[in-house]
Amino acid sequence: MIEFEFKEPTILGEDLLMIRRQLRRFVQERIVPFADDWEEQGFTPRALYRELGAMGYLGMRHPVEYGGGGLGALASVILGEELSRSGYGGVASALTVHSDMSIAHIAHRGSHAQKQKYLPAACAGEKIGAICVTEPGAGSDVAGLRTRAIRDDDGWVINGSKTFITNGVQADIYIVAARTDPDAKGSRGISLFIVEKGTPGFQVSKKFEKHGWRSSDTAELFFDDVRVPHDAMLGEEGRGFYYIMGTFQNERLVVGALVSGASARAIELTVDYVKHREAFGKSLWDQQVVRNKIAAIAAKAQAVRALTYQCAQMIDEGIDTVREVSMLKAFGAETLQEVVHTCLQLHGGTGYIIGTPIERMARDSRILTIGGGATEVMLEEVAKRL
Ligand SMILES: Cc1cc2nc3c(=O)[nH]c(=O)nc-3n(C[C@H](O)[C@H](O)[C@H](O)COP(=O)(O)OP(=O)(O)OC[C@H]3O[C@@H](n4cnc5c(N)ncnc54)[C@H](O)[C@@H]3O)c2cc1C
Repeated sequence: MIEFEFKEPTILGEDLLMIRRQLRRFVQERIVPFADDWEEQGFTPRALYRELGAMGYLGMRHPVEYGGGGLGALASVILGEELSRSGYGGVASALTVHSDMSIAHIAHRGSHAQKQKYLPAACAGEKIGAICVTEPGAGSDVAGLRTRAIRDDDGWVINGSKTFITNGVQADIYIVAARTDPDAKGSRGISLFIVEKGTPGFQVSKKFEKHGWRSSDTAELFFDDVRVPHDAMLGEEGRGFYYIMGTFQNERLVVGALVSGASARAIELTVDYVKHREAFGKSLWDQQVVRNKIAAIAAKAQAVRALTYQCAQMIDEGIDTVREVSMLKAFGAETLQEVVHTCLQLHGGTGYIIGTPIERMARDSRILTIGGGATEVMLEEVAKRL
């Protein structure tokens, strides 16, 4: 196999480079040989969370005193890139939703008691996290969510439903957005709660079959008078929307990393294929138009990667990145469509056959222009800040 490698950004220190090397080896030895089975079974096994957790990769961003690694945003980028470079977007999404998108809410605004209770097990991969925002009637428009939490003497009673929730079947810890003040307008009056699996009234009502990301489970959840104690609330009452938007910045950064990793793998597979495939008396690589096409997608993928690292650096320096991260989410996800479809085209009929890596990668990539902020919504966030 011909290897394609982006050059390492010079901002990465030896510690992060070492993490990349270790993750690269782990992905090759412990994910790639088994992931076809996980695609078939429809979820990423718990044992993989435990293995990665034991190596310290699921809590790299979280505080050291609660079992994390205390590292910055660049660590999340490296994790996302290397998991995505496996070519199995489902595995990468299941793991990064856990480490960077759900449990992160507890790390960011949990009380000491909440962090102590949940983070060590989550960082160790013993407990799996899910983030539950989307509802049948509210996706892009988060402020339109209708799941309701009503306070009583013992705590809160949650009623409603959530849909398209990654890790929804397997998770143990659910971060749930619910409306606590029905009179507050739009984005106000939403709060976040920690709901544990097994709480009476909480059930997984459906597991979806998906176009791609087949090795991550995606579920619909139902809340029927689900009682949680007062201290299940995360952060302040009524601030949930702002917390969701805050953590979205990290989620969208990780999408940039998923795009970089998948692009590198797709280009690598395609350079290898066209250099070995003979047609019209020479290799496909000997056709200038083929080389040009690959060079053009490599240039765009490199640009996405540069913006990913720039956003990570800005986040670590505490600079507001909403505009740049929104650019990254929109540009990165759209670029990946061009990358994987150009690569599939250059694989000819082979690229259309189920079971070939590029066919799976084309399916896996499709969700990235929709989930976690559709392209149109992201571009609107950019436009607001121009
Ligand atoms: C595999 C998968 C995993 C997911 N994981 C999670 C998860 O873990 N947690 C979670 O909470 N959610 C999750 N989601 C939900 C995901 O974030 C939503 O699907 C996404 O936000 C879009 O919402 P929607 O599907 O309701 O589409 P809608 O909001 O109905 O939008 C449909 C389309 O309309 C267009 N559109 C929307 N708004 C605008 C606008 N303002 N201007 C122009 N065009 C617009 C876009 O093209 C969009 O794709 C997941 C979804 C999938 C499919």
